[in-house]
Amino acid sequence: MLKVQNLYTSYRGIEALKDVSLDVGEGEMVALIGSNGAGKSTLLNSISGIVKSRSGKIEFGGRDIASNNPWTTAGCGLLQVPEGRQILADMTVLENLEIGETALHGRSRNYSLGYVFDLFPILKERSSQFAGSLSGGQQQMLAIGRGLMGSPQMLLLDEPSLGLAPIVITQVFDALRRINENGVTILLVEQNARKALEMTARAYVLDRGRIVFEGDSKSLADSPQMVAHYLGDVH
Ligand code: ATP
Repeated sequence: MLKVQNLYTSYRGIEALKDVSLDVGEGEMVALIGSNGAGKSTLLNSISGIVKSRSGKIEFGGRDIASNNPWTTAGCGLLQVPEGRQILADMTVLENLEIGETALHGRSRNYSLGYVFDLFPILKERSSQFAGSLSGGQQQMLAIGRGLMGSPQMLLLDEPSLGLAPIVITQVFDALRRINENGVTILLVEQNARKALEMTARAYVLDRGRIVFEGDSKSLADSPQMVAHYLGDVH
């Protein structure tokens, strides 16, 4: 469904992605892990069009999206849930969710407000509150819910567990599993390597802008050398 080939992205001449290739098949949930500054966000931002790549191919559903802006990429059904959530703090929870629908671009609606409220009941309870008053975990749920309101075929998730308590991380990851089972393909960027590997069958490891491992999540999780070398003591 998503095919990235030989991608190079740089910031003012400094290369952040070097010859990156990655595939995600329809219905998969694939992990992309790596330490701080490895280039994980740059890769997601390059795929979604927030950052322009220098060279390489990006295809989604067979369409060349390398020169798309984020708006046109969203219109293809490929949506990013950004790191730090970027919810609109001065608008209500409901208004934030309604804004997510603008990514539909005429595509049919697969995931309704009811679906999002069923997944995250707390958002229904808080629907008329300002989004800025939510806890960190609830804001993450809102960011995912806003993405779903655009009825994505695929979600790019940037560090959904960042800054959350373990119990909330479990809730968020359980919801991601359900979303994936309901048909949304997911590329999951995480520093929480253990969790991400538990959640997925396949993973990529990014190290200083290069893919250094690609394969089975379980064999990566079972390899102490890989974890120690590329992931430090992040569990
Ligand atoms: P983290 O987990 O800390 O978010 P990451 O793996 O997502 O890290 P990136 O944020 O993609 O890594 O950063 C990759 C490299 O690109 C880093 O060296 C970073 O300093 C650099 N970089 C990222 N964004 C910019 C930017 N806007 N301008 C210049 N350099 C940048």
